[in-house]
Amino acid sequence: MRKLKILVWISCLILLILFLQEEVISIETEEDIFGLNLVRSLGGNSQVRKEVALTFDDAPSPFTKEVLKILDNYGVSATFFLVGSQVEKSPEVARQIVAAGHEIGNHSFSHCWSSDDSVETLVEDIKRAEEAIYRATGQVPLYFRPPGGMVNDKVKEACGQTGYGILLWWVDSRDWLLTEEEILEKVKKEVKDGAIILFHNLATTVEVLPQVIEDLRREGYKFVTISQLLRY
Ligand SMILES: [Zn+2]
Repeated sequence: MRKLKILVWISCLILLILFLQEEVISIETEEDIFGLNLVRSLGGNSQVRKEVALTFDDAPSPFTKEVLKILDNYGVSATFFLVGSQVEKSPEVARQIVAAGHEIGNHSFSHCWSSDDSVETLVEDIKRAEEAIYRATGQVPLYFRPPGGMVNDKVKEACGQTGYGILLWWVDSRDWLLTEEEILEKVKKEVKDGAIILFHNLATTVEVLPQVIEDLRREGYKFVTISQLLRY
């Protein structure tokens, strides 16, 4: 009987240690509730899995087809943040993104936001983008990424009113600025389980993307969409 009691205590202790370890290694997230809306100020996943989400902003662009080709070659699913005005110019590319099984997000209509803009202006721009995206793809995105990553109370209010979760990133590749080598080094240094990685639809992105995929895959990372990454 005494032995059994000791055994139960030891089991409880082991479970507690495991629980505490889980707490320690879980990825930090910055989230707060705004109205009914979950604002995910940074990416990440409270459950530790060796998964990352590649995200490509400012789509569609003249380079999107190349990005799609690379993702297809490697069998990688990603998330594209669409700019409404660009969707209106190239609706067939927006459709191609969806047809290839990638997730889409809303990245505003004008991509020209200022901290002086009123909530009404922001709401109008978000809705205009949503309409353009829906017309082209038949889908309404779940997530909104503000142009330039601008998040303030007015942006939160506008996303709350339009029903979007704000989604930024964990690793910024700075592919609009850095060389291929620098991008690769930065991404590999900052990546961690559950990371959301920011890229654009640029010539440099097309150049560096195959190496990014190969290197992260070699490190054991699986590539998923935002919704897959954030599932609980
Ligand atoms: Zn952008």
